Amino acid sequence: MSTKKTLKEEALYYHAKGRPGKIEVIPSKETATQRDLTLAYSPGVADPCMAIFENPEDVYKYTAKGNLVAVISNGTAVLGLGDIGPEAGKPVMEGKGLLFKIYADIDVFDIELNTKDVDEFVRTVKILEPTFGGVNLEDISAPECFEIEERLKAEMNIPVMHDDQHGTAIISAAALLNALELVNKKFEDVRIVINGAGASAISCTRLYNSLGAQKKNIFMFDSKGLIHPSRTNLDGKKIEFANDTMAAETTLAEALNGADVFIGLSKGNTLKQEMVQSMAKDCIVFAMANPTPEISYDEAMAAREDIIFATGRSDYPNQVNNVLGFPYIFRGALDVRSKVINEEMKLAAVRALAELAKKPVPDIVNLAYGENNMIFGKKYIIPKPVDPRLLTTVAPAVAKAAMDTGVAKFPITDWEAYDTQLSK
Ligand code: NAP
Ligand code: MG
Repeated sequence: MSTKKTLKEEALYYHAKGRPGKIEVIPSKETATQRDLTLAYSPGVADPCMAIFENPEDVYKYTAKGNLVAVISNGTAVLGLGDIGPEAGKPVMEGKGLLFKIYADIDVFDIELNTKDVDEFVRTVKILEPTFGGVNLEDISAPECFEIEERLKAEMNIPVMHDDQHGTAIISAAALLNALELVNKKFEDVRIVINGAGASAISCTRLYNSLGAQKKNIFMFDSKGLIHPSRTNLDGKKIEFANDTMAAETTLAEALNGADVFIGLSKGNTLKQEMVQSMAKDCIVFAMANPTPEISYDEAMAAREDIIFATGRSDYPNQVNNVLGFPYIFRGALDVRSKVINEEMKLAAVRALAELAKKPVPDIVNLAYGENNMIFGKKYIIPKPVDPRLLTTVAPAVAKAAMDTGVAKFPITDWEAYDTQLSK
């Protein structure tokens, strides 16, 4: 009998071994002597308290607030696992904390809320504002996630981002920008078919709009068919993308005939080889349903030679992975004490990611993927998560966009020093 552990056994062991879970709190100051403790706690601690009382902005100077992000979920849409509840979602939130830390040295408190009530959720997060420099909302089901994020953005003075919406939008937009460039097509001209009309599909489509995609050229489908003005069963934000330039009964196969781009944020195995074959020359297919994409890599590649293909999976080329975004977007936002993460900051991240993919790939990245010459092209349209340049490229671009749009409370003046600080 084989003694090799299954992934499940290994994953359970990994999480349970030693101190259970994946994160802990570590003091950032010396604590060896009585004097150290006198400074760290009473009576010394009263001085920073009073300094902050007199000048509230000093909370960034004397506490961890400026480097602390809350990863907050109610466990209603965890990964592809659905509504498994706040406790069951906690490993994911701790995992997110781990990624924030290793990629951008941002500290995270993961917070799992036992409520599905939008008002209660919003009020709870809102009153946490003194503690945190930013809020990453995570794995909250649609349509509640839209209202929760909109209200918190309006009511809080620290950056709030629902990563499942905007992370995917930013990374896939960067990949799409590069894919279109490779085939000499423009956002303004292409016909885009989106399968899925949930949290990620809606915010991806909004961002493609900001990059020039025309609403009249976008055809969105949910589980019941084309999002069309004649539909009476459209919930959430779907109506925003209702398009009457095709008939209400148009099928996915019909809409794809001659289309330039397919974006899948729906369910596995919903795209057929024949549909891919009917698309325009140099078609772009992003099949991002996890863990099973709308069409498998092998089927898509076998369908036609001119395809540019991406998925959410790490075991194939062109992985659209949120980890390329959130650590660096929050890094940039925190470092200028931005009050928000606005559209311009997201677009700056998109462009920085897209540009980075066109630069020569460092050896360390090639090595990590067992390649010797990764180069910008159909199999490499987006940087790899292990690329150390992500931090020094995306974070400054986001910080600069915050400054340019007047939302940065603490602008960076010396960019070289900032680069050195990030590279440490
Ligand atoms: P969601 O809010 O639940 O939305 C899912 C959408 O897919 C719904 O609009 C649903 O239609 C639609 N749908 C389901 N079956 C369909 C079918 N057979 N044909 C057409 N549409 C169908 O979920 P989400 O958070 O947006 O995520 C959607 C998928 O994308 C998941 O598989 C998720 O893992 C994946 N995803 C991947 C990445 C990534 O690769 N980086 C990032 C985010 C999400 P109804 O509205 O009618 O129910
Ligand atoms: Mg998520």
